[in-house]
Amino acid sequence: MAESVRRVLGKPGSVDVRPYTKLLKAIDEREPALRELSDAELTERAAELGNAEGPYDRADLAELCAVGREAARRALGERPFDVQLVGVMALLDGHVAEMATGEGKTLAGALAAAGFALRGRRVHVLSVNDYLARRDAEWMRPLYDLLGVAVAWIGQESTREERSVAYSADITYASVSELGFDVLRDRLVTDVADRVVPEPDVALIDEADSVLVDEARVPLVLAGAAEAAEADLEMAELVRSLRPRIHYEVDGEGRNVQLTESGIDLVERELGGIDLYSEDDTSVLPRVNLALHAHALLQRDVHYVVRDGEVRLINESRGRIALLQRWPDGLQAAVEAKEKVAVSETGEILDSITVQALVLRYPTRCGMTGTAMAVAEQLREFYELEVAVVPPNKPCVRVDEADRLYATPEDKEDALIEEVATVHATGRPILIGTQDVAESERLAKRLADAGLECVVLNAKNDADEAAVIAEAGTYGAITVSTQMAGRGTDIRLGGSDMADRERVVETGGLYVMGYGRYPSSRLDDQLRGRAGRQGDPGSSIFFVSVEDDLIAANAPEARGADVTADGEITDPAWRSTVNHAQRVAEGQLLELHRNTWRYNQLIDVQRGVVLEHRQAVLAEGLGDRQLAVDCAGTHADLVEEVGEEEVARAAKLITLYHLDRGWTDHNAFLADLREGIHLRFLGRRNPLDEFHRDAVPAFKGFLDEARARAAETFEALEPVDGRLDVAVAGVKRPHTTWTYMVHEHPFSTEFETVVGRVRGALSRG
Ligand code: ADP
Ligand code: MG
Repeated sequence: MAESVRRVLGKPGSVDVRPYTKLLKAIDEREPALRELSDAELTERAAELGNAEGPYDRADLAELCAVGREAARRALGERPFDVQLVGVMALLDGHVAEMATGEGKTLAGALAAAGFALRGRRVHVLSVNDYLARRDAEWMRPLYDLLGVAVAWIGQESTREERSVAYSADITYASVSELGFDVLRDRLVTDVADRVVPEPDVALIDEADSVLVDEARVPLVLAGAAEAAEADLEMAELVRSLRPRIHYEVDGEGRNVQLTESGIDLVERELGGIDLYSEDDTSVLPRVNLALHAHALLQRDVHYVVRDGEVRLINESRGRIALLQRWPDGLQAAVEAKEKVAVSETGEILDSITVQALVLRYPTRCGMTGTAMAVAEQLREFYELEVAVVPPNKPCVRVDEADRLYATPEDKEDALIEEVATVHATGRPILIGTQDVAESERLAKRLADAGLECVVLNAKNDADEAAVIAEAGTYGAITVSTQMAGRGTDIRLGGSDMADRERVVETGGLYVMGYGRYPSSRLDDQLRGRAGRQGDPGSSIFFVSVEDDLIAANAPEARGADVTADGEITDPAWRSTVNHAQRVAEGQLLELHRNTWRYNQLIDVQRGVVLEHRQAVLAEGLGDRQLAVDCAGTHADLVEEVGEEEVARAAKLITLYHLDRGWTDHNAFLADLREGIHLRFLGRRNPLDEFHRDAVPAFKGFLDEARARAAETFEALEPVDGRLDVAVAGVKRPHTTWTYMVHEHPFSTEFETVVGRVRGALSRG
């Protein structure tokens, strides 16, 4: 009774799922007739659903679900449960469906995607990683085939051409980051035909809370190199022959170096009797100075090391190799010439987009996850999404035990290991969730020392980890994993083939242990949710020490408690302290999210202005006309010389170049501005107001400025053999670009910035 009431009413703050459950009977009734159809007839029936436009009415919705159910039964051998169809309907209505781990969201999502596609909508199914995008697309392909809709996927290795083809399918699976990188690259094309991502239509987001909340602030970055600086080997060789104090002087602090009179003589002689200080050729002296700086002021193994054929800076204050820092470009190249290593590319950030902005481009958004209610408010605030709570197919019988609290991390770890030993002795599979990779590795070592062999997952290779975590329910298995590792993979009792299922069920099913509470209860729940899949037995427990970062940082005033000889805290008041600390952490994350959102809003508005103009230039030739008008007076003769078409081509390239150049510069300005803002915050002014105060005027006149520069460049053009070479006039587009994600570790207190994989991408001719 209680269960059926819950099923009908749902949870407060969620959308009412009763209208969906009411259709289940009608869907059932269609089943016998649909079973009689041949495959071709079933496909035909699906196509008929596309005869109408817009959202499904109730009759069509029931028909869609019935056809989808029959198609899944035939194509995948899985007949969707009622609750999965409720999920399908919630997705089609543009909600986030909360469905527990293992309830079959992949299938529910696929049926909803097909539903959209049959009505002519273009669907992007967004996953947290490439592995899942590919897995799910391939897994669901037979179903899509039977329903007559085309599916494709995109991965990190996909070429531009493959992407273009994949995006033209009805349904495209991609990781959020790959999609974002494509959107960024598309923003830089100089020909509409080079774009790969179509107009955004429907986004269906798997693990919606991870993507929309945890990763929302993560910027996806596109960087580019205009051209590699030239290796000045000649100069490096020349300065090598100079003697300190005879040919050059270094100041007391080792910060400046200057040629002496005899040094100047020597250099001038070596370079063939030139005049270093001549007014006519001012290009040589800076080259000499750069080479000399690299030679005399920067010492190998003090200021930098050469490793793997690359010059890497040593961060003097920390004595560590700084991976990302480099000297200003000319100097970097000079040191590389000095060390005779290949000159590295000089790069700059061309543009970036946050996951949040990426998702908001889609007029229709929906998603699914096991843990949505806890972030229902944020989903509403940032994405205008409502949560629909879909009950599990079979009631969840997992036992969530009360936390075990300890005074110190050592006590906690001792107790945890003892518990693992005891439980493991019964053959019951154990999954231990840690906060990060380092913790996993440390814990694994301690377990090994205690004679408990375990498998460690460290969130490094998604595909391998999926295979490993799939076996976490094997009899006697001990698996240690971070919260991110092995996402999207089902843990079946008795191993992935369930061969040993009965024996594992008898031990009590999967035993999930948390090695400390996470900074949000939602993450705790994700870990717990690994046990008790589809009505399986299982249990969960968290081991907590009051010295854990979460508690020490967020409930520092709490202290003093009754402790047993084992260091266990028995005072019940401590439970609420732990929960309080977690709520404080959740509040901070939300504030951080709101704050980033506010900054980004202004930046997005400005970017929007530039992109809109760019689009007009690209598609409608606005720039050509504008430029032609601007230049009619001064450069009218060009037309005559090279022809209208050539002028239009050049005008377009020049206009786009200056728009992009201007945006890259403005973007860098905004980044600097924002970095510096917190200093002003110390002066008790509102940092966001301060940011706006400078960012708004800095953007004023942006388009006019770009136009004026374009006109200048245009005037400098000289026709050669009937063509206009824009590169000569300084219009050089990045010849290489690369992409990366900037992960402010969402839950670290210090916001250490970890730059993710950096990889080469397309090159532009
Ligand atoms: P989730 O993403 O919700 O955690 P998955 O989509 O990975 O769950 O599915 C979990 C498991 O349930 C898969 O092994 C899948 O094959 C199975 N499954 C899904 N739907 C059904 C169904 N209607 N009948 C039987 N098995 C199903
Ligand atoms: Mg899943």
